[in-house]
Amino acid sequence: MLNILLFGPPGAGKGTQSEKLIHGHGLIHLSTGDMLRAERKAGTELGKQIQAIMDAGKLVSDDIVIKMIGQKLKEHTGAVGFIFDGFPRTVVQAEALDSLLAGYNTQIEHVVLLEVHEQELVHRLLKRAQEEGRTDDTPATIQKRIDIYKRETLPVADHYEKKGKLRRISGIGSVEEIYGQIELAIGKAN
Ligand code: AMP
Repeated sequence: MLNILLFGPPGAGKGTQSEKLIHGHGLIHLSTGDMLRAERKAGTELGKQIQAIMDAGKLVSDDIVIKMIGQKLKEHTGAVGFIFDGFPRTVVQAEALDSLLAGYNTQIEHVVLLEVHEQELVHRLLKRAQEEGRTDDTPATIQKRIDIYKRETLPVADHYEKKGKLRRISGIGSVEEIYGQIELAIGKAN
């Protein structure tokens, strides 16, 4: 299996690059952000519970997202591989993912860290706010999400660096250039 974790701060381009990887390699896209937004849109009990947390730019509890990912892995047994986007965001989530995958005799092969400096992230997210109208793309929430990324999510990069799986890539440049770098990092370039 080819299991890739696309990692980086909000606005680094994880969603865009995930799209390309899915088409390029037939991988199943697992984005906890998309799953949570779908719950909100459907107006489920869970959707109502997480609304305020997401709009404040805070993290939804580990239990909720780990359970969601566990269900998706079960639904897609036999998949060529997965691309994890926006998950894991804490070390607890990373450890849970490692053991979930071990249960299927597989593991994360590559963790691609898209690096983008903070000023550019804020600029991109404000632009996305105008284009997509995401309720968590307001100036105050954007800063909060970047701070939470640094505090709670960056340690996940160390977790995988210790295992020799982390590949750092600049997330500045054209979509194609960055995709080319990702292909090289995961050993799939022509
Ligand atoms: P994203 O689309 O990945 O930027 O996620 C949007 C929001 O959903 C985040 O700011 C969090 O509130 C929530 N979220 C998404 N993924 C996770 C996760 N793995 N752990 C906790 N909260 C998450």
